[in-house]
Amino acid sequence: MNCTNCGAPLPPKSIRCTFCKTLNDVDLRNVARRVDGNRETGSRDCPRCEEVLQIVQLEVDGGFGVDRCLKCHGIFFDPGELESVLDESVSKVYEVDYPRLATLVEEEGIETLKDVKYIKCPDCKKFMNRKAYGSRSGVIVDQCRDHGVWLDGRELHTLLKWTKAGGQIHEQKRKAREAEQSKPKLTGPIDDRPIFTREYRTETIIDASDLFRAVRSIADILF
Ligand SMILES: [Zn+2]
Ligand SMILES: [Zn+2]
Ligand SMILES: [Zn+2]
Repeated sequence: MNCTNCGAPLPPKSIRCTFCKTLNDVDLRNVARRVDGNRETGSRDCPRCEEVLQIVQLEVDGGFGVDRCLKCHGIFFDPGELESVLDESVSKVYEVDYPRLATLVEEEGIETLKDVKYIKCPDCKKFMNRKAYGSRSGVIVDQCRDHGVWLDGRELHTLLKWTKAGGQIHEQKRKAREAEQSKPKLTGPIDDRPIFTREYRTETIIDASDLFRAVRSIADILF
């Protein structure tokens, strides 16, 4: 990612140009409509700079407002809103581009859970959880279970690129694999088992010999 003012490459994880000091504003170029000003009731403050967050209307999913800090460009999304932005801002992706995912992490830099500085939810002011967004995105988001998720300046940009490279599909596949592995081996009643398993055949043999014995004992009685 390059500086929109001087064209110099931006340092990883940052939207501040080291050469001209411009704070680059790229995240919402395609979907933001206008800055609406402060919310009417109850202010939400930036968890990093304590500025009052501004509402920015997004032309996504019928349109909704997100809270954004004009100073650091961090954004707070209510639950589900971030997913809508990722879905609608990136044209449909059908495959995972693994080489791209790998170079993306190199370009954007990886945050680790060790870079911990817990910040407070802009709404309820309780400390938020830190959690990796998907896997291989290199992004760790701050999340309040009740109110939503906070992204710092460049994180939305990184997540948009990650989505474009098939990151969400990779994540769905990974979750499906995990669910498959944690499933117990045999499910449902015995009769649901496929016909050609060893257990089934053994049982059939036992059944047959029981039947044979039954026939023999009837024969013993009759003759
Ligand atoms: Zn610059
Ligand atoms: Zn801020
Ligand atoms: Zn909260």
